[in-house]
Amino acid sequence: MGIVRRISRQVMVGRIAIGGDAPVVVQSMTNTDTADAESTTRQAFELWRAGSELVRITVDTPAAAAQVARIRGQLDELGCDVPLVGDFHYNGHKLLTQYPDCAQALAKYRINPGNVGKGAKRDDRFATMIEAALKYGKPVRIGVNWGSLDPELLARMMDENGRRQNPQDADAVLREALIVSGLESAAQAESLGLPAERIVISCKVSGVQDLILVYRELARRCDYALHLGLTEAGMGTKGIVASTAAMAVLLQEGIGDTIRVSLTPDPGGERTREVTVAQELLQTMGLRSFAPMVAACPGCGRTTSTVFQTLADRIQTWLRDSMPGWKGRYPGVEEMKVAVMGCVVNGPGESKHADIGISLPGANEVPVAPVYVDGEKTVTLKGGRIAEEFQAIVESYVKDNYSPGAKRRRERGRKSHQAIPIKAST
Ligand code: SF4
Repeated sequence: MGIVRRISRQVMVGRIAIGGDAPVVVQSMTNTDTADAESTTRQAFELWRAGSELVRITVDTPAAAAQVARIRGQLDELGCDVPLVGDFHYNGHKLLTQYPDCAQALAKYRINPGNVGKGAKRDDRFATMIEAALKYGKPVRIGVNWGSLDPELLARMMDENGRRQNPQDADAVLREALIVSGLESAAQAESLGLPAERIVISCKVSGVQDLILVYRELARRCDYALHLGLTEAGMGTKGIVASTAAMAVLLQEGIGDTIRVSLTPDPGGERTREVTVAQELLQTMGLRSFAPMVAACPGCGRTTSTVFQTLADRIQTWLRDSMPGWKGRYPGVEEMKVAVMGCVVNGPGESKHADIGISLPGANEVPVAPVYVDGEKTVTLKGGRIAEEFQAIVESYVKDNYSPGAKRRRERGRKSHQAIPIKAST
């Protein structure tokens, strides 16, 4: 069943389109001190190389603002044109006016309406930031977060709710306050002259069910482009599962024009993991393709050695690492499907459904590994160099089928493998 995307207004962030008919954009955020231009440049570059299409950086102090143009320049010198988004809280009005090079170098400003100030000061500061966006021709994200929701707005809405004959529960009022904060701030930005095509909204919470309820309602009430993400998702598998559980439901309903997976890195872990997870979420849902995917069985009592796990990991890592170089040379390679299976029970069947697959010998099986290409068994590998030989076969498949001009051959191959009847899998 296809996914019907919600139609939103398209926002250009540098050369990247968000919303409208553009594919869902993957973004990420650095965790370096922006005042340390070298570290921030390095991490922004790594995030971009991993596939992040927008990179957000913290702009919280004069020292940080003073380095933004330098970071932009260093990235340009490295051939990295990823648009940078400035994350502003409390003092964005000052930094955007006192550091014009920073305001110019950024491709988008994130404004948290809960962290702008109170009363008349809030309106003035908010207006100053929108004026900067107008002056430099930038879009903004109205980024509401329930950890920093405008306290005056929440108090007003709680009071109003308390006076109702049938008051809602506090959670429902909080969700409504998030939405109202986003929509009222967006309307205020529009009244100051910022076109709706330069406004993205997000209303982030850390609960899966709350996020789904908030974004369904937000999507129903406006046609602004929406930035989707579960805030404070957490570490490791918990963060991945929670983000995926929430975002998959919304993406399936066509809601979300750009996503970020807010993972807390493990100590010493890679910041780029959040990019990989976001890409894999979109790719496994069939929304976009970023890198060839490896289908691998979970293994069982028939795989008493780690040979097949090692090979599956090696091939997946190699495919992902090869993508920056392959992207331009082999158009369409990101859609290639590779299978690495642990034994002959489901190995040959799964291999036939892939573009290229290998079925390793399970325990007590003859120590040979049949390879399938476009649904046909082409060779049987044996001996101690199965991994190297299979990798070489995949590499030559990529060259033969994804080089410019090789399209027809690939389509013929696809047809034959589509004709294979589906077999039950593990
Ligand atoms: S394909 Fe073979 S090794 Fe893999 S899970 Fe199934 S039975 Fe086990």
